[in-house]
Amino acid sequence: MTAHGPTIERRGLLLVLSSPSGAGKTTLARRLIEEDAELSMSISATTRPPRPGEINGRDYHFVDEAGFKRMAEAGDLLEWARVFDNFYGTPRAPVETAIAKGSDILFDIDWQGAQQLSEKMKHDVVRVFILPPSVEALAERLKARAQDSDDVVRARMQKASAEISHWPEYDYVIVNTNLDASAAGLRAILAAERLKRERLDGLTGFVREMQKTL
Ligand code: 5GP
Repeated sequence: MTAHGPTIERRGLLLVLSSPSGAGKTTLARRLIEEDAELSMSISATTRPPRPGEINGRDYHFVDEAGFKRMAEAGDLLEWARVFDNFYGTPRAPVETAIAKGSDILFDIDWQGAQQLSEKMKHDVVRVFILPPSVEALAERLKARAQDSDDVVRARMQKASAEISHWPEYDYVIVNTNLDASAAGLRAILAAERLKRERLDGLTGFVREMQKTL
């Protein structure tokens, strides 16, 4: 019960954020996680080496290729894909636990991962694509990071075009011109999706009880 009435039991949802790297997705994801106690981040496994400042178990589970393959073959990954020259995948167990207990998970995964998750868990997935406001803004953000070499930046600009071509496969698209406005948009999406009738498992029982006394 809350001050205003009962809390209706619901299934958790899977909020998938995709974008070309440099569109501001990571910043938006962090903001959302910090503000929202019901939302946690899915921590992917990857064969990519850690960047400076990245911590194993917080940013990614950094594994070697043999370890990654073992996880994939054992069915421990809900989806996985090759992105650039590395493998990335979503560990299954934390996702299933979260959905069952009604908490939500945020995914920073590419279009291949979004497709696989949608195929497997269609009703639980909400897909949001983040677009950069312009090519110039994308190039600037990639350069400002300066953690990757020029070659990597160039390759990522090329990949951006391929990633962007998948925007129609998403439920929502946010053009990230202003971080505050984009974060507000994401919060609105989350608030509305949490209220969807199909997710409110407790609704049937709640209404049945109510009808008894009417
Ligand atoms: P980065 O190496 O910059 O951290 O990530 C590169 C790309 O891989 C990003 O587009 C990111 O969304 C994607 N990615 C990260 N984790 C996963 C994952 O578990 N599965 C899939 N399919 N893509 C991922």
